[in-house]
Amino acid sequence: MTSYSKQPTSYYIQLEEQFGAHNYHPLPVVLEKGEGIFLWDVEGKRYFDFLSAYSAVNQGHCHPLIIDALVRQASSLTLTSRAFHHHLLGEYEKYITGLFGYDKVLPMNTGVEGGETAIKLARRWAYQIKGVEKNKAVVLFAEGNFWGRTMAAISSSTDPSSYEGFGPFMPGFSIVPYNDLNALELAFKSDPNIAAFMFEPIQGEAGVVVPDVGYLKGVRELCTRYQILMIADEVQTGLCRTGKMLACDHEGVKPDLLVLGKALSGGVLPVSAVLANNEVMLTIKPGEHGSTYGGNPLACSVATAALKVLQDEHLAENAQNMGEIFRSRMKAIQSELITEVRGKGLLNAIIIKPFGAQKTAYDVCLALKENGLLAKQTHGDIIRFAPPLVINEDQMHEACDVIAQTIEAIV
Ligand code: PLP
Repeated sequence: MTSYSKQPTSYYIQLEEQFGAHNYHPLPVVLEKGEGIFLWDVEGKRYFDFLSAYSAVNQGHCHPLIIDALVRQASSLTLTSRAFHHHLLGEYEKYITGLFGYDKVLPMNTGVEGGETAIKLARRWAYQIKGVEKNKAVVLFAEGNFWGRTMAAISSSTDPSSYEGFGPFMPGFSIVPYNDLNALELAFKSDPNIAAFMFEPIQGEAGVVVPDVGYLKGVRELCTRYQILMIADEVQTGLCRTGKMLACDHEGVKPDLLVLGKALSGGVLPVSAVLANNEVMLTIKPGEHGSTYGGNPLACSVATAALKVLQDEHLAENAQNMGEIFRSRMKAIQSELITEVRGKGLLNAIIIKPFGAQKTAYDVCLALKENGLLAKQTHGDIIRFAPPLVINEDQMHEACDVIAQTIEAIV
């Protein structure tokens, strides 16, 4: 077994700089251990994790029950491909479909593959069930959407840093404003070829953009009225993050297709899923879609454990309660730097006014890191705060003290 001697932070960053593609700009911290809501760097410093790997680690780092499921399964069977059956897939499918109330699930790996799968299903449904003419189906997306980095995902993006220089793009995609039911209805009315509207119930990467109360219900009603599939991308908002199992649950709304990812494995390995009823799901036949790793034994074992932890530890309720504390503590911070606090459950953001010599949210994140809390800016002026959902009240207050002291010290 290879063993590495411990080096200082700068050594690891330099290695990545030299040998890795420059497609990320991480904070200058090198992590080597995680437990619950905490992370430790290679120099032994402990941090509150207020990113949770973009909401993948909802159950906390290295949750013992999830790691146990991983290790137990890893020593007996990891991958069969879907060329053969394995004994965990059907049980997992039964459990997850029962939990979310759908006829069927299609297992994939990453969140973006879940989105791709949902779009393929929607196009198939449009041709086979709705009667849209061949190759004419349109999928609508919301302005500001983010669902990954594949060609299809960037073809629907309105953010130039996602799509610029990567054309030509996927046809059959259109954009409507987010949180605007009138615009959505106008779009639905104007084109009989629309197969689906795919959207996030709260836009995560756009900066935790929470739509008005009634938006989700309105989307559901319009989709039903115009025979258009409602696809909820709950890869980031799902699995207790916003204070309910799904963000759609806040308005008692059930999408036709539900896309899950990230926390479906508790941050242990890439596991995603699309859930739908038979009318949609059975439009894809054997050999027409899949993935070597999708639904593998390790993923089934881990995802089952990850979902059970969410239920058994009442993490939706905890996210709801801790979120209230977080937002009220942020609103009480005495600083002109914060122009807005927003979010739901434990998916929150603060908006930072530029300060000093061109300093931005990134500089605040650097100062937070120095003070022992990790968070990441998005779009230059927004800091997302999304700790693991296992955080308790004392820990939440301690973390809020760090954020308040850091920000109050800046001005
Ligand atoms: N959908 C949403 C809402 C996301 O936030 C993300 C990632 O941040 C994705 C999809 C893509 O997930 P992945 O990075 O696992 O492909």
